[in-house]
Amino acid sequence: MVELKEERYSTNQRILLHACCAICSGYPISFLKESGYDVIVYFYNPNIYPESEYYRRLEAEIKLCEYFNTDLIIGDYNTADYYDFVKGLENEPEKGLRCVKCFEYRLNKSALKALELEINNFTTSMVISPHKNYDKLTSIGKSVAQKYNLNYLSYNFRKNDGFLKTNKISYELNLYRQDYCGCQFALNKI
Ligand code: SF4
Repeated sequence: MVELKEERYSTNQRILLHACCAICSGYPISFLKESGYDVIVYFYNPNIYPESEYYRRLEAEIKLCEYFNTDLIIGDYNTADYYDFVKGLENEPEKGLRCVKCFEYRLNKSALKALELEINNFTTSMVISPHKNYDKLTSIGKSVAQKYNLNYLSYNFRKNDGFLKTNKISYELNLYRQDYCGCQFALNKI
């Protein structure tokens, strides 16, 4: 496993960064680049509902990646597969079992994309959000990585005021800000 400590270090390795949205991925992109990684952003979020919201968030991600001059791969918006995966958990509260499956689904697909591109390292911007369970995300990331013989970078982007920094980037770039996590189940509970 690649483990970044508090201090930064340089590496020339490539890393696939699963981006859940532009707000959360600004600081991770900046941090990983400054740490010496060649960052490839993977926007893979078939959980987002409705479709118009998906495209608003994707547009913001495109703007962010242009700003950082970072490669962006746009995953499929295969909502039917996603709904199958979380079937039976529709009424779970946010932070409950549906969210665990949602993490698993997106991290597994991200690992498969990394394998396809022969990128050994992957991680996710989801960990920067104080609304997400870092330990749960990390344990899923590591177990998915083990399955495919990849490295999951378990750095906590929340450290060193990461959440403040990512928000600052988003305000400076005037990025679209959503007010719910993403899926229709979370939206219906607002
Ligand atoms: S609330 Fe967020 S993390 Fe949970 S299932 Fe919905 S989109 Fe996924």
